[in-house]
Amino acid sequence: MQPNRRLSDFLPLKFANGNQVKQFSKPCVKCGTMLEAKQMNGVARLVENHIAIAATAECPKCGESFGVACVINPDKQVKRVVLPRFLFNLYLRALPVQKGESAPQAILNHQTADLPEVRDALEDAAEIARANASRQQVQAQNIVRADEAIGRFQDKVIPAWLLLDGNRFEFDRIAPNAQAGEGEFLLDGCLIYRAKA
Ligand SMILES: [Zn+2]
Repeated sequence: MQPNRRLSDFLPLKFANGNQVKQFSKPCVKCGTMLEAKQMNGVARLVENHIAIAATAECPKCGESFGVACVINPDKQVKRVVLPRFLFNLYLRALPVQKGESAPQAILNHQTADLPEVRDALEDAAEIARANASRQQVQAQNIVRADEAIGRFQDKVIPAWLLLDGNRFEFDRIAPNAQAGEGEFLLDGCLIYRAKA
């Protein structure tokens, strides 16, 4: 995961056809002052021969701060990105370094772990890992609980099994930290069920 940096630190970026983006500017949404890459903080990456940018710009004149999320094609046409900029920014920062892309190495060197933006990036990475883990969990629209209970946890009854969209899952364990793994289903935030073997 790369930390957010001044956008100018990512430039120039070069397309396969030889075109280069050396500068990137946007007018301030409030006062119209033209802001340059060095007044934006975020990430710019070369992704499948497009330059993708997700940043926050801060106007030195009026103090307005606003989001910039766009993709530049090899003909240097700029397209807006519809994804929430926050997600787009996380996605771009999590991408491994691509061929032809010069990674801002300095920030990855030692003595950077205490910088707030590095801590921020590490927290973001942990957040993504959690989101990925929850995606591997079993999701179900239609949950039927067994009448048969095998006990209680805190004030919750533990059904012996569940029918999840028609598939039977057996009670496996209690997970007070709500950490369900791949192929597992989390019930009531603390009970883990697994598909019947
Ligand atoms: Zn402004």
